Amino acid sequence: MHRDAVYIALDLGDAARAMTHALSCLDLARACADGPLQVKAHVALALVQAESYDDLGADEQFRIADQLARECRDDRGVALIAVNTSHYELERGNYAGAAAQLLGLLRSDYLRGLILPAPGSLLTTFHINFVVGAAETLLAGGVPFAEQRALVRQLRISAAFLRRMDAARGQDTSPLEASALLDALTRAALWEGDIKAACRLADEHVRLAGQADVPLLYGRALLDRSGVQRHTGDLEAAIHDAEQAVAQFQAAGNGLWESRAHEALAEAYASAGRFEAAFQTQRAVTRGVERLFRDYHQQRALVGQIAQQAREAEVRAQALAQAALRDPLTGAPNRTQAMQVMAERHRQASGGEASAIALMDLDHFKRVNDTYGHLAGDSVLIEVIRLLTAELRPQDLLARLGGEEFVVIFAETTLSEAARRCEQLRQVLRRATWESAAPGLSITGSFGLAALDARRSVTAALQAADSAMYAAKASGRNAVCVEPELLLEGA
Ligand code: GH3
Ligand code: MG
Ligand code: MG
Repeated sequence: MHRDAVYIALDLGDAARAMTHALSCLDLARACADGPLQVKAHVALALVQAESYDDLGADEQFRIADQLARECRDDRGVALIAVNTSHYELERGNYAGAAAQLLGLLRSDYLRGLILPAPGSLLTTFHINFVVGAAETLLAGGVPFAEQRALVRQLRISAAFLRRMDAARGQDTSPLEASALLDALTRAALWEGDIKAACRLADEHVRLAGQADVPLLYGRALLDRSGVQRHTGDLEAAIHDAEQAVAQFQAAGNGLWESRAHEALAEAYASAGRFEAAFQTQRAVTRGVERLFRDYHQQRALVGQIAQQAREAEVRAQALAQAALRDPLTGAPNRTQAMQVMAERHRQASGGEASAIALMDLDHFKRVNDTYGHLAGDSVLIEVIRLLTAELRPQDLLARLGGEEFVVIFAETTLSEAARRCEQLRQVLRRATWESAAPGLSITGSFGLAALDARRSVTAALQAADSAMYAAKASGRNAVCVEPELLLEGA
């Protein structure tokens, strides 16, 4: 949904909102470790950045997406990225780069990503982008012979594909798609030297785009036809269409295309020998570019701000997630974390070694508070965590469940080995001195030990440990008790 929102926001020209959705999309994809979705999220981010004229940022996002897609063997992802990057190369006027990008895809194993799971609009976009890139590259000339052959071959294939599409075009073809199709076919016809076909296609393009009533589309169609008319030497018509295109882009509020149309208009004026008009138009281009530059910086600042806020939110979310797993008084892992780790050890136990858990409750802790005060009680709790944690292996976990109750999770440890370790912990507690907190104080704990294995649930294991702990209390405290049934089985 966020990805759809990105495209809608982009269509509406709201780069900042598109950025927000693109980042949410990336967050979600990361959270559920979905590789192909992550690829799509980076592509969406790239589109947002390209749309706010951040070419470097867009290139970087496309690069990350491409690397990810290759790592997770996402053929569709690699194809999607190649087709999208070629589109942006075309928008920047780098026709040869776009064509080379697509030829590279054709020659790679990722080709099947274009047609699988089903041939659709990605394949059409591929052919459209290729025809535009290759036709413009070949028209500009200067292509090395070997490359030229490859370009011409694929250009013929792609143009034939688009002609079939054009023949099948009907009411349900979207104006955007029809427009792109006619634009590509016009360029193909120009390259083939079929001027009549080029004019016919350009007229049809203008007619259709005019019906669609989308100023940006109409402007582009007029601009394309103006190019064809300059090619045929019909300069007055070229000037007229370019003027109309300027007006359409102004209506659409699209500064970038307005600048391009002004530029085409200035060239048409100059070709027709109307140098004063060419000069004035060129000045309009300069002013337009200045305005774009200013907008660009404002846009970038806004998009950059949102990206920064998203990074900060991510850091805060991580800090909160960490805090949610800790006990605020002692800084030790809390009940939530203990439950997570026990669930994890329980899962592992079904495939391998069982673990063990010990519940420990401090003895007569109420007396500590009553005699030395609550603050002293608090510092004893902190010190208990420090002392016992120092005795554990990195894979074990000591957590405070609440009050003066703790759990120790002994990873992949037999019950008898865990009993030996609990005994050590019990002695460490008993021998510790508490001079700074409460002179003369002595602390002991009662331990109840149970196995954490696949034979029963985590809750059942906790209950068994709890019963064993009460048995330790009943035996006079300062003791380790192992759950009875298993002790019998083990004996
Ligand atoms: P027993 O050996 O039977 O466990 O005796 P006990 O006094 O430890 O048992 P009880 O559960 O009756 O009392 C627990 C006491 O722990 C009550 C409360 O004052 C104290 N306590 C619980 N949480 C905290 C804490 O965060 N800080 C301090 N200072 N004391 C706490
Ligand atoms: Mg208690
Ligand atoms: Mg107690």
